[in-house]
Parts: sequence; C-alpha cells; structure tokens
Amino acid sequence: MLKIEGVNKWLGDNHVLRGVDITVRTGEIVCVLGPSGSGKSTLLRCINHLDPVDGGIIEVAGKRIGYELRGGVLYEQDERAVAKARQHIGMVFQHFNLFGHMTALENVIYGPVKILKRPRKESIDKARDLLALVGMSERAGAHPGQLSGGQQQRVAIARALAMEPRLMMFDEPTSALDPELVGEVLTTMRKVADEGMTMLVVTHEIGFAREVADRVVFMDQGRVLEDGPARDVLDNPVHERTATFLRRVR
Ligand code: ATP
Ligand code: MG
Repeated sequence: MLKIEGVNKWLGDNHVLRGVDITVRTGEIVCVLGPSGSGKSTLLRCINHLDPVDGGIIEVAGKRIGYELRGGVLYEQDERAVAKARQHIGMVFQHFNLFGHMTALENVIYGPVKILKRPRKESIDKARDLLALVGMSERAGAHPGQLSGGQQQRVAIARALAMEPRLMMFDEPTSALDPELVGEVLTTMRKVADEGMTMLVVTHEIGFAREVADRVVFMDQGRVLEDGPARDVLDNPVHERTATFLRRVR
C-alpha cells in the first residue's frame, strides 16, 4: 500500500531524511517512534507530497503522488492531480484542525459533498455512522469550540475517514491533549485499526504501539534505525539509541 524507498529530504542546510525505506502493506498498522527532530513529521509531509522529496520514491497504492508516468516518461503532476491523489490519504494532525464555523457533522460531510460530489443525504447518513464509530453521535451538532480536545480529535478522525482513504496517517494525534483525554482518542484509533484500515502512526504512546501496531519503526536523525514486529523493537531493540529513547518515554 505504501512504499518508501531511499527517500532523502533537505530542509535548508538540514539533511532531514537520509535514505528512508519503509513499507506498509494493506491492512497493516505501523507506528513510527523517534526523538524530536528525527524527521517523522517531514516523512509524513513527503508521503502527502506537501513537501517534495529530494531523492527516492514514495508510492501509495502503486502510484507516485506528485508524478505520473505518460509514455514511459515521468511528469510532475499539476496541483489538481496532486490534490486528487492526496484524497486517498487521510491525515490527522497533532493540533485539531476542524473548520471552526461548522458543526461536527458539517465538518465530516464537507469533503464528501464538496470534493467527492456525493449527494448530501447519502453523505449525512455515512457521516452519522462515522460519528457513531468515533463515539460522537451525541455531539454531531456541536461546533469545535464547544468540544474538548479529545472530542475534536475524534471528529477529525471521522472527517478523514469520510473521504474513504486507503491509508490513514496520524502525526502525534494525542500529544497536545490533556492526559485524561488521550485514552479516548487511542481507543478510537484502535477501532479504526480493527476496521482493517492501513495506518501509519507517529506516536510516543508505547502502550498503543505495543497493542495495536504490527510493526514499529524507530527513526533517529533522519534514518530508520529499527523496523520490526512491535514486541521485538519495543522489548529487544537492537540499537542502544532505541533502548535509551524507550527508557525515556516509558
Ligand atoms: P517532533 O517529534 O518534534 O515532532 P519530528 O521527528 O517530527 O520531531 P521534523 O519536524 O520532521 O521532526 O523535523 C526534522 C528536522 O527538520 C528537525 O531537525 C527540524 O529542525 C528540521 N526542520 C523542520 N522544518 C524545517 C525548515 N522549514 N527548515 C529547516 N529545517 C527544518
Ligand atoms: Mg513531528
């Protein structure tokens, strides 16, 4: 589903990604851990083509976002084509980014109605199902300002799912939350995983990684230092750097 091969990325003088290889198969849950500045967010931005890579290949469902092959020649896509390709990737950020002037339900139907051009009635029915999945049925009519951070994050997950993504990416979705709200968002993410979604999750929640992830990737200074079954990486890391990190976040 997601193939990342030899990806390099510079930001100014900073060599932020140094030959990153990661594969995520359909239905797999992969958690990415790593210290601050190791390049995790940059990697997600590159997958979405919010930042173009400086070398290497990223493919989502067999296609390179930002490029297309025509007659054996690789062309850069125009903005519209890039936006269309991006629709297949759902993204949930650290900071809640719901539309503030819309209710929870309106947030969830916005993409399907405006972008996918689905009928409003059908979109509302589906949005209600998704709000039920994330445990937000009761607050469908609330505006983001009337919701807790955890509730906003759950609506953000429903909104991303409404676009029927092939891949869901999460960038530290719980790290800006009050501790008592973290659990409800992780529970929601677990439900999404149980539905069979392919997920790439940047997180410092080791417990979540241990229980939910098929694989854990540990990044340090723009490199993948370890990549393996969650228990192997978390309980028996090969590198001292990983062990030190895990001791710190536990
Ligand atoms: P965190 O856990 O703090 O979110 P991260 O692993 O997501 O960290 P990135 O945000 O991807 O790390 O940043 C990777 C590196 O790129 C850092 O050293 C950061 O300082 C650097 N960086 C980020 N944005 C820029 C930029 N616009 N120009 C130059 N360097 C940048
Ligand atoms: Mg980050």
